Amino acid sequence: MKVHQSNFSIEGFSEAVAYEEIKSLATQHSLLDYYDLGSGYIPKLPYNLGNREHSLEEILTCNPSLISFSGDKLFGSVQAGIIAGRADLIATLKQNQLLRMLRVDKITLSLLEESIKAYLKEEWESIPTLWLLFRSIEELTQRALHVKEAVGQAYCDIMPSETYMGGGTLPNRKFPTIALHVKGKATVLERKFREKLVIGRIEEDKFLLDFRTILPHNEVLLIDIIKQIVG
Ligand SMILES: *Cc1c(COP(=O)(O)O)cnc(C)c1O
Repeated sequence: MKVHQSNFSIEGFSEAVAYEEIKSLATQHSLLDYYDLGSGYIPKLPYNLGNREHSLEEILTCNPSLISFSGDKLFGSVQAGIIAGRADLIATLKQNQLLRMLRVDKITLSLLEESIKAYLKEEWESIPTLWLLFRSIEELTQRALHVKEAVGQAYCDIMPSETYMGGGTLPNRKFPTIALHVKGKATVLERKFREKLVIGRIEEDKFLLDFRTILPHNEVLLIDIIKQIVG
């Protein structure tokens, strides 16, 4: 069994066993192999984020007995745990009485189904986590500029920054983003924005709104909130 370490990383003299090795050891001894991926993802990740983690497709080429991964995190759907693998093992799991306690409700299942349909149709915009992850710096800059112009140059400026995936995935793996720096006392702004349900972050005493976390359809509302607070 291999379990992803989720939200921490070890640097320096340390080693991890590749899943392929666990698989071959298990096969050699006629045992089941199981990989708890924590966060499963499908498309090749941008910004080199996939160079230390395998995609679901890569794991499946190893023919695992069982794998599990979260329905949210990088998969970008509902909070749920997904177990996949050999049909006979899944059938055995389904017969276990514990399933009655652990199974998800119909709403979760139907939302998960919608996300999976979006995957099949490659409609990435329906999977916000991934859609935002794939936005280019040029595109984020354009959108930030638009907000800056709408609010007024005096109140904000644009700065490049770095961001993290979070949610127990890809620990310590920074990737680029574009932020709108709202001018003013950062701690005060942070509280005022939070009261309007907008969560920013403070970096070097500056209050930032990270464009990798803002969906285009929320921009009009966001402009309005910024104007209410600083305008
Ligand atoms: C997140 C995580 C889980 C649990 O995921 P759920 O979304 O609660 O199903 C299990 N194992 C690892 C390694 C994780 O990172």
